[in-house]
Amino acid sequence: MSKIWAIAIHGGAGPIPGRDYAPEEAHIAGLLRRGAEALANGEAALDVVEAMVLDLEASGLYVAGKGASPNTAGEWELDAAIMDGRTRNAGAVGALQGFESPIRAARVVLEKTPNVLIVGKGAAAIAGAAGLARVTDPASYYGAVDEDTVQDGKVQMGTVGAVALDIYGDMAAATSTGGVLSKTPGRIGDTPIIGAGTWADERCAISCTGLGEYFIRANAAADVSARIRYGGETLAPALRGALDDVKRLGGNGGMIGVSANGDLAAGFNSSGLKRGLADWKGRFEVATFL
Ligand code: ASP
Repeated sequence: MSKIWAIAIHGGAGPIPGRDYAPEEAHIAGLLRRGAEALANGEAALDVVEAMVLDLEASGLYVAGKGASPNTAGEWELDAAIMDGRTRNAGAVGALQGFESPIRAARVVLEKTPNVLIVGKGAAAIAGAAGLARVTDPASYYGAVDEDTVQDGKVQMGTVGAVALDIYGDMAAATSTGGVLSKTPGRIGDTPIIGAGTWADERCAISCTGLGEYFIRANAAADVSARIRYGGETLAPALRGALDDVKRLGGNGGMIGVSANGDLAAGFNSSGLKRGLADWKGRFEVATFL
């Protein structure tokens, strides 16, 4: 056991320039304080990242959980993933309908099934069997899309995520999203694809947000670990390199990461990234734009 711990959380990579994100930043700061305290008190990274994402989902401030937006059929299909870096056990759900917390459903897949990714009706059945809170009236639960967040007919990236290193030296990552407004029914983004939008191993833990198709094609989250493993890079340049690859393909977005020695990194090649970073040395930063 060591005293080293670190945590980062994000609320999506598509903030609108000029808009005031004070409510989101205040929320992220409060949550980050809670996460930092939990890690300092010896809570496991896996539990902390789940708790962080659960709160981000429930807040309704981001395009995930309660703040999710509908697909072209007027239905809310949500994706989430969680990964334990120590064991590389992972759980994910795709196109989940009818439940408040996709991240809790992902944790159930991790804990209670031999599978990694379960989608659609199968995911709903597993969430239902686990007794997770249901959404019975989606139109009123999710509410109207905030028109301010719509650009070019699409809600800009509002995925949420968390990564953490605990005092036992273990890392974990969790990500949850409602995807983008007007997505095709059945479309699944990078968030629940292990290695694309979410990754944790013994080198780093990564959570992504952005144009999911590009993050899948770049295998972006796992690419950060590969750059550390095979290229000998440290976390920040590895994360930057993975994001550059997303950009080279024509995509954009952001990422947060933590590495085994407690380094933290956040990067984006979009308009900004709602984020918070904290560590055992007293670092505590919350920002949206540069
Ligand atoms: N990455 C998410 C997706 O493509 C969107 C986002 O980050 O907001 O589903």
